[in-house]
Amino acid sequence: MKKVVKFGGSSLADAKQFAKVGEIIRSDNSRVFVVPSAPGKRHDHDIKVTDLLYECYELAEAGKNFYEPFLAVKDRYNEIIQGLNLNLSLSDCFDEIENKLLHEPEKDYTASRGEYLNGLIMANYLGYEFIDAKEVIFFDEAGNFDSDKTYSILSPKLEELNNAVIPGFYGTGYDGKVKTFSRGGSDITGSIVARACRAGVYENWTDVSGLLMADPHIVSNPAVMKNITYRELRELAYMGASVMHEDAIFPVKKAGIPINIRNTNSPEDTGTWIVENTARRSKYTITGIAGRKNFCSIVIAKDLMHSQSDFYRKVAQCFEENNIPLEHLPSGIDTMTVIVQESKFIEHEQEVLSRITKIVEPESLEVESGISLIAVVGRGMKSQTGTAAKIFRALADARINVRMIDQGASELNVIVGVPNEDFERAVRSIYHIFVDAE
Ligand code: ASP
Repeated sequence: MKKVVKFGGSSLADAKQFAKVGEIIRSDNSRVFVVPSAPGKRHDHDIKVTDLLYECYELAEAGKNFYEPFLAVKDRYNEIIQGLNLNLSLSDCFDEIENKLLHEPEKDYTASRGEYLNGLIMANYLGYEFIDAKEVIFFDEAGNFDSDKTYSILSPKLEELNNAVIPGFYGTGYDGKVKTFSRGGSDITGSIVARACRAGVYENWTDVSGLLMADPHIVSNPAVMKNITYRELRELAYMGASVMHEDAIFPVKKAGIPINIRNTNSPEDTGTWIVENTARRSKYTITGIAGRKNFCSIVIAKDLMHSQSDFYRKVAQCFEENNIPLEHLPSGIDTMTVIVQESKFIEHEQEVLSRITKIVEPESLEVESGISLIAVVGRGMKSQTGTAAKIFRALADARINVRMIDQGASELNVIVGVPNEDFERAVRSIYHIFVDAE
């Protein structure tokens, strides 16, 4: 079984971190394809190499002197090379980057050099082949990842090799120039490489021992999830849980390859397994909690609205005309509630409301802002009675007024709406009742 291992910026921030990564890779000879990010922060006040490179580009583009960040970039790599005692010089590469900045600065090319240079160092350090992502990863005319072209070139290439380092974050655009994914995109490269070589697992190494059941800024020391399905992860990620790049899930999910989130600073921890399906139960009824603030509710009341078969469509149309996605539609007998994001709604508020008034002639129309949505997610919820009751008991005990409830048909999640000012308390109460008290 082959493993693809992707290391994030903090795992490769300096020579000491590189050495830990080297040990992890050497300790398991199935870890054959390695995808590095650019060096990240060494401490809280540090600057990521990618950010320094963007700064070089901005200055160069404006015709200004870019040497301060540029020299900082060079220093970061030279420190790593010296710290690892490598017989490697990147001076030709630095000259090429400098030349491009002076004569034809390109944003994506400049940013991508963070991963490119780190990939060269990693390949030298491990004695692995180096594959420039520019040769094997492609984007189409619309700027999207071109999976057909990429796999037709990348898969046979990986087949030929016993091992290789493929830098993350970039590939070649339709115009033949270097193009990057959006920020955090090395996760996507790792997933693509895993799919291309039909890996048995995609290991994503970071600086936490897996995904946490709740935001650690809200709940202190939340438990780590051992297993989570792709669908649960989508629900949590959509509600704000930051995990890895969202688009990184699709290539491996399609191929049925599990993702294992691991901690470079604590490699003995088993981390979190993200899988398509699992019979494994989580220790708790719920898998995780996530939430976002700042939603609005629009409550539309009209007697006998249910006898009008086009009522919902007409209301939806008023939002669609203003490009406002509908988040949730909890309904009553003669009321319909639409939940939308405040930032998307507020600027078109009056247009939407007057359209609704005109098209469906409601008896009343109420708008409220400052609502937070909290998703309580778990594949285990459908086989447990009393889960919803438990959520509401937690909120009632904390004297939090529930403004909205929505249970997905899949019974994978329950979404509750609470006032913004009660958001953190609500998350803590729900966490407490399921984790500490279970
Ligand atoms: N280095 C890039 C960034 O900082 C990509 C990545 O780390 O995944 O966004």
